[in-house]
Amino acid sequence: MNDATRVVRAGLPRAKNGEPFLSGPVFAAPYHLAGAPADSPFTYGRFHNPTWTQYEAALSELEGGPCVLFPSGMAASAAVFGTVLRPGQRVVMPEESYYTTRLIAQQYFGAMGVEVVTARTVGNALEEKLPGATLLWLESPTNPGLDVCDIQRLANAAHAAGVLVAVDNTTPTALCQKPLALGADFSLASDTKAMTGHADVLMGHVATRDVALADKIRLWRTQMGNIPGPMEAWLAHRSLGTLHVRLERQCASALKIAQFFAAHDKVSNVRYPGLPSDPSHEVARKQMLWFGPVISFELRDQAAVERFFAAATLVHEATSFGGIHTSAERRARWGADAVSEGFVRFSVGVEDVNDLVADLHHALSHA
Ligand code: PLP
Repeated sequence: MNDATRVVRAGLPRAKNGEPFLSGPVFAAPYHLAGAPADSPFTYGRFHNPTWTQYEAALSELEGGPCVLFPSGMAASAAVFGTVLRPGQRVVMPEESYYTTRLIAQQYFGAMGVEVVTARTVGNALEEKLPGATLLWLESPTNPGLDVCDIQRLANAAHAAGVLVAVDNTTPTALCQKPLALGADFSLASDTKAMTGHADVLMGHVATRDVALADKIRLWRTQMGNIPGPMEAWLAHRSLGTLHVRLERQCASALKIAQFFAAHDKVSNVRYPGLPSDPSHEVARKQMLWFGPVISFELRDQAAVERFFAAATLVHEATSFGGIHTSAERRARWGADAVSEGFVRFSVGVEDVNDLVADLHHALSHA
């Protein structure tokens, strides 16, 4: 079965007369529970919920391994760190990975005695740091720089050194890139982005290659109480059905818009892994189906970006990415990434691409 079909059908219950295709969210703290807890499929709301189970089953089909749902991408990342890493152990991670991931690694796990070693994503520089590590953390393409590493090569090297591999797969989603098939032990994502795609839900998940790792991750969720709400899980499942049609449009438009930016004289340093001229393209082509909805580029300075946003009518100035609405932000406003004042992270939505290009053409004439 193709993913285009899978996302529409995944996790749905068997057809039954009079029942909806996807029944609504189940809201329950305790469930009726007489007698031995082991005899009941559902006991208490922190342990399990049928709405999570349905969506997890759908994600497992897409990822290729058991899956555990979390209330945000950061909750998913923290579960991998917290489950795998102990004081005295080492995590190797990209120095330009999503900034809150770096923050929790250094300020929480680092402060508790985990050694955090960083290297650049480009050129697979993380490989050199593997000896003595417990966990290799990858993010490809990176947010916001859109650098790419060779996941299969790094996973092979890590496993040869006895190191577990986690891939933050947020920017491409499991539709565009399958970390577990490339050899990773964990594939995790912020589903707040393209996975749910409607700018109305925070969500995250961790998929694994084996049941024992999934059990550990689930136990972390249960004991830490880091659980998603049933309403959000249901909205996320409902959004999954359109993932393929959304991303097919978004990725095709992103390539056209990246080409438009690359040819524009006010725009510099355009990065999009789908551009044949991009330094990431060769590796990205090997491991990605499509190249995602996110582009980055630079305008001359902060004022130029502000004029660009003021003139654009189809670009929401907002953080986050991957959704149906085209949006962008001047990343330096957060002060967290090593980017220039004019650096823009741009997320292509599902609007008509000709309308978008016309709007961008107009906005850039003011930049
Ligand atoms: N990982 C990446 C690559 C992200 O871009 C983000 C959020 O921007 C996260 C993780 C965290 O996700 P959330 O905001 O859902 O906690």
